[in-house]
Amino acid sequence: MGLTGIEILKMLPKKNCGECKVPTCLAFAMKVAAGQEDIGNCPYVSDEVKEKVGEASAPPIRTITIGQEGAQFKCGGETCLFRHEKRFENPTGFAVLVSTDMDDADIDGRIERFKTLRYERVGLLLKADLIAIKDAGDKDAFIGLIKKVRAEAQDAPLILMSKDVGALKEGVEVAGKETKPLLYAATKDNLDEMASLSEETGCPVAVYGETIGEAAKLSEALQSKGVKDLMLDTGARTMREALEDQVVMRRASINHKYKPLGFPSITFPCEMTDDPLAEAMITSVLVCKYAGITVLSDLRGDVLFPLLLERLNIFTDPQRPMVVQEDIYPINGPDEKSPVLITCNFSLTYFIVSGEVEGSKVPSWLLIKDTEGLSVLTAWAAGKFSSDLIGSFVKKSGIEDKVSHRNLIIPGYLAGMKGELEDELPDWTITVGPREASHLPAFLRDWKAE
Ligand code: SF4
Repeated sequence: MGLTGIEILKMLPKKNCGECKVPTCLAFAMKVAAGQEDIGNCPYVSDEVKEKVGEASAPPIRTITIGQEGAQFKCGGETCLFRHEKRFENPTGFAVLVSTDMDDADIDGRIERFKTLRYERVGLLLKADLIAIKDAGDKDAFIGLIKKVRAEAQDAPLILMSKDVGALKEGVEVAGKETKPLLYAATKDNLDEMASLSEETGCPVAVYGETIGEAAKLSEALQSKGVKDLMLDTGARTMREALEDQVVMRRASINHKYKPLGFPSITFPCEMTDDPLAEAMITSVLVCKYAGITVLSDLRGDVLFPLLLERLNIFTDPQRPMVVQEDIYPINGPDEKSPVLITCNFSLTYFIVSGEVEGSKVPSWLLIKDTEGLSVLTAWAAGKFSSDLIGSFVKKSGIEDKVSHRNLIIPGYLAGMKGELEDELPDWTITVGPREASHLPAFLRDWKAE
């Protein structure tokens, strides 16, 4: 069981010095207990306390890292059943399968799609995460395929899949230990060998059990041999079984602190159906509940993109609005005569408005005011986008040094603020912009400084 804030407080020096960036030891202890602060942020606690608190406050689902420094994939680290209770920590990974029984063109296509199907949304790069390399019974071909993938997708975190522990061992040597691939899979038949291989290479190991019960037993046995970094495959190969197993694993580890199941899962939608759309639906269910990695048979833009967006939604922090930094954003190479617009820092607003301005091809300055991630009207109603705050931001922002005119375009929904803003910014002419961002291009093309 985790420690309470009061139990943690008893182990702190109680200096209330604030060096941990939290005002008091009590507040710091509460945050450590809630998993929002690391005990190591207090410079005065002993290693013994760090270890004790660290172990007690470790997430009930262990965080597993796959891949080399600088290009790592992380999964697990989860602490809740429902995202609104806190947040989901590490997004479900999408892996594409390449296998020694595929022909070269198939393999080349999958690697190419892994590298090129990338999308930028709200300032984030959305893409698939791992390549799963499968030995279909030909060790030499397996080693050759690992070399090929390493040569063509150098940074890709890897899952090495083989029934032959010797092939896995050679595979790690070929890929390089520093690439820390996930080794799939430890089974009831090779447990000791896989434990030794994990100890020797430092690589995480996936456990395969024919049932969730068998996976739990194997996990317990591997932990008793000192293997700490595990992922679990419960053997489920239908959507219903997979979903049930995911829910059981999450509940057992979060609600009952059941350690054998306290690891992220690896799932195989690619083995549950031959229909790409059914595979996408299964994957979509497993993103919501609660897969660590889903291995896909292939990557297709029309399937991958919606899955990436779904994952983005599920794994954003529901308690923290997505924001962009307060600043002046130049769009389309503006100069001193270019229009100046202002809006809030809710990232969706920013990306919609900046996208429309960019699309207009009119060089413009976009002022982004920090409204703590609230949208225009909500921020105005909450007093975070009021005329005095906008006025003081415009004066301090430095925009007056960038433009020779004094014309400010405000969102159409703030038309009622025009008079107040003119009082706050007497040197500026306030123009009410369109209500809808989609009307901005036409508005900007007609705009002339007064
Ligand atoms: S740094 Fe340590 S001693 Fe200082 S307030 Fe934080 S928890 Fe207390």
